Amino acid sequence: MIIKEFFTNLAILVSVLFFYSQVSSKYPLNTISSIKLKILYGVLGGLLSNILMHYSIDVDNTLIDLRHIPTILLAYFGGAIPALISMVFTIIGRFFVANGLASYFAIIISVSGTLFAIYFSKLNYSKKAKVSTILTFNNLVFTLVFSYLVQDFMLVLKVMPIYWFVSYISAFLAFYVIRYIRNSQRLFNKYQVDAVTDSLTGLNNVRKFKEVFNQLINDLKTNEQKLSVLYLDIDFFKRVNDTYGHAEGDVALKELGARLQKSTRNFDIVSRNGGEEFTVLLLDCPLLRAVEIAERIRRNVEKDPITLNSGKDIKLTISIGVACYQETTNDPNMLIDDADKALYQAKHSGRNKVCIANQ
Ligand code: GH3
Ligand code: MG
Ligand code: MG
Repeated sequence: MIIKEFFTNLAILVSVLFFYSQVSSKYPLNTISSIKLKILYGVLGGLLSNILMHYSIDVDNTLIDLRHIPTILLAYFGGAIPALISMVFTIIGRFFVANGLASYFAIIISVSGTLFAIYFSKLNYSKKAKVSTILTFNNLVFTLVFSYLVQDFMLVLKVMPIYWFVSYISAFLAFYVIRYIRNSQRLFNKYQVDAVTDSLTGLNNVRKFKEVFNQLINDLKTNEQKLSVLYLDIDFFKRVNDTYGHAEGDVALKELGARLQKSTRNFDIVSRNGGEEFTVLLLDCPLLRAVEIAERIRRNVEKDPITLNSGKDIKLTISIGVACYQETTNDPNMLIDDADKALYQAKHSGRNKVCIANQ
């Protein structure tokens, strides 16, 4: 019976923790979380404690439960605020279960266990040492209070080893589950970002560019806005690599990416489309304005040298092709091709210049 109830408790603990971490994958609780989030987690932790209290384990007519685990987890991950809120909920909940002398002693256990967990979580020990010490403290206080209440040595000897075992196993399992879920979520979020980001410049990669572009031209069918495209390519970039090495070439690419981002509005879409080629999608922007922006970018690159890792300043120039839906073409599907052709024209008519598509 004890084993059955113990597994029921573990199953509740693990499934609720799993559910919480799914809902909160974007906002995991930590000590710098917002107050709102800490309060929310405190309330949720208190609810879980109450659920666990109702599924207590019967050891020789003595009820033991895992109500302390959520509060300890909250103290460890989120600090004082969520832990104290959860503690208050647990204490109130305890009075709904039964209102007697034991309820008041339960307060001593909850308060001392929570305060110790808050205090000890902040100290500079390893995670294992923290978790073990916090649990041991909780188990010790529980044992002392229980012994004082029942005044029956044989009963204490029978119940307490089971309590300690249940308490340790559940807490370590809970920490393991949270850590495992958090790690998986962190990796998943990172891969999601990596999949659409160019790792060198931090700009959109070509996959993201295509996705956004297709979405934008789809929207054009209904919103009838203009859309301009700048297609940029560094002039004679091969020489930079040949002269200063590939790593210094990367420095120049990174710097150019940063300058593009700085010289456009924050809702324009800047991407690295491959090698030393970049695009800027200028939303709701007419041709004349797009050409102005392209000219400004071109002039700034020409004017401000880029400082390499070695400390050497190099001067770069770029060529830009511009295309605009509703002005250089009425077919949005042709925008990229047209801008690319205009870029080609800029390259073949002297470089370091801006050319407009279909002119
Ligand atoms: P053009 O003016 O005609 O554009 O001449 P270019 O030398 O810039 O053009 P080309 O296409 O011949 O060479 C592009 C160079 O870009 C060749 C390649 O080594 C370099 N490149 C492409 N990707 C990277 C990169 O990720 N890092 C570095 N450092 N160089 C790159
Ligand atoms: Mg080039
Ligand atoms: Mg190129």
